[in-house]
Amino acid sequence: MRPKTYHTIADFRKNNAAALKAANREFVLLCRELGLISGTRVGVDGSFFHGNASAASVKTKKQLEAELAALEQDIDGYLAALERGDADAAAAEATTVSAQQLADLQARAQRRREQLEELARTGETQISRTDPDARRLSKNGQKVTGYNVQSAVDDQHHLILTHEVTNAGNDLGQLVPMAEQARQMLLDGQTTEAAQPLEVLADAGYFTESDIAACASRGIVPYVPVPEKTGAAERAGRLSAREFVYDAEQDRYRCPGGEALHPYGQPDTRNGVNYRRYRSRASVCQSCPLKAQCLPPAGKRREILRSEPRPRRWSGIGNGWRRRRRVMRQRAALCVTPVRNPEALAGVGPLPGTGV
Ligand code: SF4
Repeated sequence: MRPKTYHTIADFRKNNAAALKAANREFVLLCRELGLISGTRVGVDGSFFHGNASAASVKTKKQLEAELAALEQDIDGYLAALERGDADAAAAEATTVSAQQLADLQARAQRRREQLEELARTGETQISRTDPDARRLSKNGQKVTGYNVQSAVDDQHHLILTHEVTNAGNDLGQLVPMAEQARQMLLDGQTTEAAQPLEVLADAGYFTESDIAACASRGIVPYVPVPEKTGAAERAGRLSAREFVYDAEQDRYRCPGGEALHPYGQPDTRNGVNYRRYRSRASVCQSCPLKAQCLPPAGKRREILRSEPRPRRWSGIGNGWRRRRRVMRQRAALCVTPVRNPEALAGVGPLPGTGV
């Protein structure tokens, strides 16, 4: 029998992932059979879990490049010292560089090069020496070196239907896979006709128009608030984008100074959302009495980004706002607690932050 170490449990989970997933599936099927799962509404959320790695063991591309540059500089210095030693006996005596030190530096530089090549090959932005899948993650002030575990929770008894371990730094792009995974779990062993329509609740961190549309096309109703965007102008105390009025007929904005901002350039895509740029004329802005309130000191013209089509405040497609509000209030109680606070779920303590 192998001795227990700090990663015995982690190894067990890793080596038996398929069996553990199968056991989880059997458990969910049993709960469904016992009528403990509604199967009509699930909450999706991500929780940070610590990995088997410290923050120092994870390097970003920028850090690796800086380390490589420093190592190469040291190697050049050592080589120069060795050359001086070859040419001059006194310098040879003074030099403290050994062949072993040089070989160590060259090996470390080579490792950095290989790590950078790996980042380029995989398209990742970080690499961990001790836990290859762990990443430095940060969300709402919480910092963790590990994983972003996505879970889908049924609303009847807050049972976790399915989960997925990711190392994504945020929740964008997770809505459709998790909703689909939950639906497959609910469909398991049933005919498609027996399946009920599924509603999926998630926070604003999941909102992209493409994911909302993808859910709708799969017959899944997403309830996801559209994130509030406070632009740099508003944060700096200047006129916010909300004060610019969009004219759908003319496809242009009217600024508080009464001037028009016209579409400009090609549409752009960020986080799966298509944006279009509208901008004012520099010649008009330079003589505008509102210039100081609208533009930064060196600004020439104003630009507004508009997502296409403009997101609704909530995405619960086709449902009244009262229902959307009621459903969204349920989200916080649904998603977070089963993962972060299992004892609360068991009735031992209050559900944090939910008032339940
Ligand atoms: S500075 Fe330009 S965009 Fe801003 S209010 Fe004046 S004219 Fe409109």
